[in-house]
Amino acid sequence: MKQKINIAIDGYSSCGKSTVAKAIAKELNYVYVDTGAMYRAMTLYALQHGYIAVNGTLDGEALEKALDLVLINFKYNFDTGVIETFLNGQNVEKEIRSLQVSKHVSKISDVKAVRLKLVKLQKRMAETKGVVMDGRDIGTVVIPDAELKFFMTADSKVRAKRRYDELKFMGVETTMEEVLLNVNSRDEYDTKRANDPLRQASDAIVIDNSNLTIEEQFQFVMGHVLKKTGAPESIS
Ligand code: C5P
Repeated sequence: MKQKINIAIDGYSSCGKSTVAKAIAKELNYVYVDTGAMYRAMTLYALQHGYIAVNGTLDGEALEKALDLVLINFKYNFDTGVIETFLNGQNVEKEIRSLQVSKHVSKISDVKAVRLKLVKLQKRMAETKGVVMDGRDIGTVVIPDAELKFFMTADSKVRAKRRYDELKFMGVETTMEEVLLNVNSRDEYDTKRANDPLRQASDAIVIDNSNLTIEEQFQFVMGHVLKKTGAPESIS
């Protein structure tokens, strides 16, 4: 059996990291880990328990004290083929994609204790290799020794349009303006925050996918995977 590697995919909001990451994981029979879903689940928990006030202020200390009560995990849905996120035993896959969660998630992701908890979990998931993980700090903090690192970016209007279409498809009522605002403000917050900000790892391969199809991105990444792991028959 071929040696498994770890693949880190970082980048800006809504630039299609998860689409490519899922396809690559499926092709290689690797595990896909959506770390953004973990920060989103934590945000949902904070909203549900009143740690985020109506005016948006976060009671970080209270959230920190409750962290041991938060259990986040993933389960594969064999009927739909979707990896779903669970928060304390509840399937929250749909709720964590809401605009309300998107509005507050960057603030929650900047809480040091939250990051320590989730990064520790993510590191453990990557220990046995054979993981495709996407997020903001995967190549720099979570698996800095990943054999392959990608940094994805795209024009913010293209990204907002993709996110808008995704939300529409999920039946979420919103406008392009609102989505564009959220995408831009999350990028700004994620890049400037104190703890593990979004940064391109020095050894990451950049993919600007503004004008690339999903298939082209998939082929590009697979090309690098095959270069790293050897022959195409490596998939096992
Ligand atoms: O990937 P997604 O857009 O779902 O991530 C939601 C948010 O979670 C990001 O805007 C960022 O604030 C946070 N995040 C993070 N570190 C990661 C993954 C996501 O801070 N590794």
